[in-house]
Amino acid sequence: MPDNDQGLFATAVAQFERGADLVGLPDDLRTIISQPKNEIIVNFPVRMTDGSRRVFRGYRIQHNNLLGPYKGGVRFHPAVDLDEVKALASWMTWKSALCEIPFGGAKGGIAFDPHAHDREELERIVRRFTHALGNNIGPDHDIPAPDLGSNAQSMVWMMDTYANSTGATERQNVKRIVTGKTLETGGSPGREKATGQGVVFCLQHWADEVGFDLSSATVAIQGWGNVGSATGRILQVHGARIVAVADHAGAIADEDGIDAFELTDWVRERGSVAGFPGAGWIEDEDFWAADVDILVPAALENQVRLDNAPAIQARVIVEAANGPTTLEAEEALSARGVETLPDILVNAGGVVVSYFEWVQNRSAQRWSLDDVDHRLRDILWGACDAVVEARKEFDVESRRDAAYTVALTRLQAVYEQRGIFP
Ligand code: NAD
Repeated sequence: MPDNDQGLFATAVAQFERGADLVGLPDDLRTIISQPKNEIIVNFPVRMTDGSRRVFRGYRIQHNNLLGPYKGGVRFHPAVDLDEVKALASWMTWKSALCEIPFGGAKGGIAFDPHAHDREELERIVRRFTHALGNNIGPDHDIPAPDLGSNAQSMVWMMDTYANSTGATERQNVKRIVTGKTLETGGSPGREKATGQGVVFCLQHWADEVGFDLSSATVAIQGWGNVGSATGRILQVHGARIVAVADHAGAIADEDGIDAFELTDWVRERGSVAGFPGAGWIEDEDFWAADVDILVPAALENQVRLDNAPAIQARVIVEAANGPTTLEAEEALSARGVETLPDILVNAGGVVVSYFEWVQNRSAQRWSLDDVDHRLRDILWGACDAVVEARKEFDVESRRDAAYTVALTRLQAVYEQRGIFP
């Protein structure tokens, strides 16, 4: 069934409007806050290994910088387009506001398949994209990070390219132009697992609230990349059993549990869950119908739809990915009593630890992993508390609606105090 045929930004705006209705946001402010401030598209040529040249299209959408510099990941995927990046950028604005970190929202990407290129081509594509963005990004202006398809190595190439394009005396000051770097080049302890760690902190908070025992939970996870695999490993350490996993190649299941650490090694070496010896191959529709307590979409948007939602057995959908549930599917699931823990809360661990990395780079410090984890937990549990309170204050069931009221109330206060220039 073709739900969400209006595009992802329309979904994002519809979610925003529900929150705006609840807090009574004035019309002019709605228009100002919902639309991106800047939409940057760059077309740039890259030399391929066979000597040919190809033009790539890259995007950087700067949605809002009221609370701090624009901040958000860069996605490498063939389906990247303006509509998608606008939606992803807006979700970053709400995420930062919800977690009270001094960042705005942005997102970027290149429309290409990173797995179709060798390392040298990939490096040239990333460096040329960074060069094409030029001064549209900056260490106190707009700070990229990894997202789907990109990783710590991509961030190091971006940092190095940016640093080499600045004056010699500035080079040491611009490390924070990107976050999510490797530890050796100025990354933060805990950044790689941060989004998954945050997912688990939010789940723990929810489990405490509703009286659910996480240590005996069964889990299905879609996407075994940065976010999905970290979530799986940490949940397993807490005693949960991962019984089904899906990725771009297909889906696997084992009622007795799939070892999250062995699966991570397998995927790192072979690129997908296909052929993993510790589980059996299942059809995609059986993945969605898996008999589990917790379903974690951690891949692409619009994965939980009206065509698979009726089969879902889980009691809670944990949106580790951005925008994984269509509006229609969320409504259908909610009518059946299935809860959704919303993306702007649940996957905010990535941007929070990105903020920690930025602060460490800025002040030439190195925090311990323990320190990072504790600070992350405090911030996310604070955001979860605020959402619980907002559900009562605004008398709403939906945790997504409640999360939007928290973020929008904070943004509204700043807009009203600062006013609109001139
Ligand atoms: P990743 O590139 O590391 O992994 C992506 C995973 O999705 C892979 O396992 C891939 O096989 C799977 N996948 C791709 N296409 C698929 C398909 N058609 N069907 C099923 N699975 C498919 O990406 P990531 O960084 O883990 O990001 C995953 C999601 O989490 C995205 O929505 C991203 O925006 C969101 N997110 C990421 C971060 C971060 O810090 N990386 C932070 C917040 C949110």
